[in-house]
Amino acid sequence: MDRIALRGALGALASNHLWTWQYRTSDLFSALPTAHVDLHPVQAVKALDDAQLDALLDDGDFVSAVASQVAALDQTMETAVVSPDIAYFSPEFGISEVVPQYSGGLGILAGDHLKSASDLGTSLAGVGLFYRHGFFRQYIEDGQQAEHIGTYDPTDFGCVDTGIVVEVPIADRLVSAKVWRFAVGRVPLLLLDTDLPVNSAEDRAITDRLYSGDQLHRLEQELVLGVGGARAVTAMGWKPGVYHSNEGHAGFLALTLLDQARAPGGATTLARAVELVKPRVLFTTHTPVPAGIDRFPRSLVDPHLRPWCEAWGDSIDALAALGEDPHDGTEVFNMAAFCLHVASRANGVSKLHGEVSRGLFAMVPGGSAITSVTNGVHARTWVSPCLQDLFDTRLGDGWDRGVETAWSNIDGVSADAITECRAVTRAPLAELLADRADITLDPDALVIGFARRFATYKRANLLLRHPDALAALLADDDRPVHFVFAGKAHPADVPGKSLLADIVAYGHTPAANQRFSFLPDYDIAVARAMYFGCDVWLNNPVRPREASGTSGEKAALNGVLNCSILDGWWAEMSDGRNGWDIPTSDAVVDDVRDDDESASTLALLVEIAAEFHADGRGHPSAAWVDRMRHNWRTLGPLVTAARMVADYERTLYGPMLATQHR
Ligand SMILES: *Cc1c(COP(=O)(O)O)cnc(C)c1O
Repeated sequence: MDRIALRGALGALASNHLWTWQYRTSDLFSALPTAHVDLHPVQAVKALDDAQLDALLDDGDFVSAVASQVAALDQTMETAVVSPDIAYFSPEFGISEVVPQYSGGLGILAGDHLKSASDLGTSLAGVGLFYRHGFFRQYIEDGQQAEHIGTYDPTDFGCVDTGIVVEVPIADRLVSAKVWRFAVGRVPLLLLDTDLPVNSAEDRAITDRLYSGDQLHRLEQELVLGVGGARAVTAMGWKPGVYHSNEGHAGFLALTLLDQARAPGGATTLARAVELVKPRVLFTTHTPVPAGIDRFPRSLVDPHLRPWCEAWGDSIDALAALGEDPHDGTEVFNMAAFCLHVASRANGVSKLHGEVSRGLFAMVPGGSAITSVTNGVHARTWVSPCLQDLFDTRLGDGWDRGVETAWSNIDGVSADAITECRAVTRAPLAELLADRADITLDPDALVIGFARRFATYKRANLLLRHPDALAALLADDDRPVHFVFAGKAHPADVPGKSLLADIVAYGHTPAANQRFSFLPDYDIAVARAMYFGCDVWLNNPVRPREASGTSGEKAALNGVLNCSILDGWWAEMSDGRNGWDIPTSDAVVDDVRDDDESASTLALLVEIAAEFHADGRGHPSAAWVDRMRHNWRTLGPLVTAARMVADYERTLYGPMLATQHR
């Protein structure tokens, strides 16, 4: 290999995000002299100078590792998706911490969906937006969340220009959106970007940031995502049989499909067009909280719907009626209701959430037929390298796809092998705590993690309701525990921010005993460090508001035991021994319920600490390691995104494709 060939090989590896779940490839990038934690490998490779390339060329092991990984990538790409059967639309995709195009669970789930589809060879492509300013980064100033906004260039993430520009009707004007192509293994992801010179300054800013701005900005983003995304799919020459809207934000994709159905010679009425579109539309709802659903006032949405109605010769009320949920009255356009009206199938993201959604949308056509596919997580993205090696050698093929017989081999894995990994994988968390929280982690501590968005229903501050019990737990030197919190509050969420400030402040009190820490700037990297380094994963939302939750699934795959309210995924997967259930209070007054559940959680944590330290301070007891094995044996087959994507194929994609003559 010469310099040009090495740069080319590294560039090829960097621009296909297969490296985000192949740690041997990402290790190569970490070894580059230009590597930096915030830098995408594409940029690190670009920054290499000739002398640095020469030094790398002198390292025979490095060069042969690069060559063999390029060969493996080429082989994978022989079966790349060329013309997808399924177009998966999402407002955010969480692929890597160095691609800051996600805010939280919805995006991480979408990223894991694409990665598993790539692994399984599913004929699927993603469709989303490219946000020039991504999502904010968090730091703490005077005990409060402060926000930093970066600026990103798509080519720095390996995005390739497709040469396609689509036009999106927005009110009475046409906005142009460029279509970038981003590679996630075999799966292509199209990202639309309105930051083009042909657009006005306001329109260039439509795709500026994820979830910011006012309702109009949000509506315009959703029009670009849905209408523009579906036009981009057509412009690519793709003819997917399934348009999957991950949450209602992408629901306007149906406007493009309806428009295609109303073309000359096609459907003569709106009702008929809806019937033609329905077999191809799948809607996944992600929240049982009405405030989490996009509901636009008719006065805001009508000017955007009117041009379509005029072109089709339909009344605005007929189209707007498709976005009606009788709960909201007639003056609201509800995106979830719209999706239900235009989709032939809809699902929630856990069994409990499916049930709650059937109730929530009972008054909308199709609402009572909502099924469920429980969310899962992409194993090779989220399991520590140490455990991946252990599982590869001891469990055998298929553990990462949730194969039950592979996971049953966990019983033969020794306690020593398990605890050795635990010691190795704790190091990154201890480093983060030292760097960002100025805390030295006691190696003997049972580490309890809590990382999620600071949405109020997730109740990050639940334990603070009983300060004496909490202080006693934190003061116990025989059975030391250490709490680690992380998470961002939406910039406009005042109660969420105040909750975050309470957690930060408590950590500095004497009662916290240096054992209650907040780690700033929660992202994929912080999340991984926490799954790799914690012992217990705490989840105490108000039941049943956590549609699924996935952080606990990522924890479980790393042997971190869940202590959780019976909500979301945990409600169906807990067996009473693979973690701990926090009893749900039946008090009708919110304050009383929170007091009760706070007390039960603290009492449970005392028992948990006792079980961990039962065979001596600071070392997981035999009973604990047994519980870890039981956790893996029972949850390994259930929590992977491979299981999830296979469920989508079997129960939704497959049957939908089968109804079509294509
Ligand atoms: C997994 C994950 C989430 C979602 O966690 P929940 O349990 O669903 O709240 C959010 N952010 C990051 C960075 C994650 O890795």
